[in-house]
Formats: sequence, structure tokens, C-alpha cells
Amino acid sequence: MTTEDSSGTASGGGTAGIREQAVVRVSGLRKEYGDTVALDGVSLEIGAGEAVAVMGPSGCGKSTLLNMIAGLDRPSTGQVCVHGEDLGRLNETRLALFRRRRIGMIFQFFNLIDDLPTIDNVALAAQLTGTPTRQARRRALELLDELGIADRRNVYPAALSGGERQRVAVARALMNRPALLLADEPTGALDSHAGEQVMDLLIDLNELGQTLLMVTHDQVLARRCASRLVTMADGRMSGERTLERTV
Ligand code: ADP
Repeated sequence: MTTEDSSGTASGGGTAGIREQAVVRVSGLRKEYGDTVALDGVSLEIGAGEAVAVMGPSGCGKSTLLNMIAGLDRPSTGQVCVHGEDLGRLNETRLALFRRRRIGMIFQFFNLIDDLPTIDNVALAAQLTGTPTRQARRRALELLDELGIADRRNVYPAALSGGERQRVAVARALMNRPALLLADEPTGALDSHAGEQVMDLLIDLNELGQTLLMVTHDQVLARRCASRLVTMADGRMSGERTLERTV
């Protein structure tokens, strides 16, 4: 399986050289929704090849942070740079294109399109960036094969297990060889066996150099997949430590 940032620290560990190779640079991030302060001055750097888990109680701002980094929402103040691009400088059209090309996302509930078979759910990610259908389907099939679900290519999402759906979602997220893979509770809707398979997949991807940022309540996921744990409370970062991955 190929990932774009194979020049990154493929070990996924350590923070050396992050400044030179930062994939994410967030500084002074604040987000208000009316009277609610969702983020209150968050700064974070993620180096190429790192796997970072963000944890913290419900409502502390984790999803808001992820959405800002994904360019799905804009900060009230502060800066978000991803893969060298200052997202605040992009208009909506360019931001959408940047997001499609450079960022892959997986969600708790997969967010697949019910009316499309597996292969087209995956291929669509590349078609939306202008890749011709044949080429997009060819790469989609390669990815499905690498993720062990090529035999499910013509099946619709409703006929897939939860674990298979998340694999399809991972394939879709990888279609454009993203600089950054974002995961919001990627095992949250899976039974423990399927959850473990998805964790193994995330570890494999990170070991191939894929930079990962995940938001989770799941200590096991964080400890197995992440090289660094960031904790949040009340819209701020409350702690940070490197992790030795548990096997
Ligand atoms: P977490 O992901 O840690 O559970 P969130 O980032 O979802 O936390 O939410 C942080 C705070 O911001 C919460 O108080 C939440 O209610 C509020 N919030 C998040 N998104 C919105 C929104 N679109 N509109 C209003 N308030 C929001």
C-alpha cells in the first residue's frame, strides 16, 4: 500500500524534525458558537508520520478541533496550516478542493453513500477531484484488494458488516493519497473484533508513513494506534505525552 508521505518518519514515533516536516500546524485556535467557547487557544503541531490521538470528556472541543483541521469549519481566530497550506487564506472553493485532495476522513458511522456499490463509493473520492472514472475505479479496486475486501466491490453498503463498511471508508479516505488521515471515533460503532481489525489497519497505514490524527474516547485505540496522546478539557489542551504502542 502506498501513502503519499513516505518521506515521513515511517516509524510513526518521536518528535524529532517535526518543525521541518509538520503536516499540521495549529496556533491560537479559538472557536465560539454564540456564547459557547468550543476552543479556547489550542496550539498543536503534528509531524509527518506521526499518529496522534486526542482524548477528553464529551464537549471539550475534540470534534471542533478535528473539523477545523479538516477545513470543514473555520476558526473564530487563530491559524490552521495543513501540508503547508494556510486554510484561512483559501476561499470556499479552494478549501473544498484542498480537503478532497489532501485530507482523508473516516467517521464513527462511516458516511458511505447507500445508493452506490462499494467500488463507486471509493472511486467517487477521486472522480470529485477530476480523475477519469476508469482510472478512479482501477485505483479503488487496488485499495479494496489491499484492504481485503475486493470481493465486496459490487455490494451496497447495507449488505456490508460494520467492519467492512469502515474498511470501505478507509479506502475512500486513501483514494487521493492524503497528506493527513483524520479519524473521528473510527471504532465507536464497531464490535470489538471489527474494531481491532480497523485498529490494525490504522497501525499498518501509519507504519507505511501515513500521518494520522484521531479523536476517540477509546483508551485501547489510543494506546494501540497512537504515538502521541493529546488530552483536552474545556476547549484547551490539558496534557500531552508520547506513547509506547501496546501490541
Ligand atoms: P467533543 O467532540 O469533545 O464532544 P465538541 O467539539 O463537539 O466536543 O463540542 C465542544 C463544544 O462546542 C460543546 O459545548 C458543543 O455543544 C459546542 N458545539 C460544537 N459544535 C457546535 C455547533 N455547530 N453549534 C453550537 N455549539 C456547538
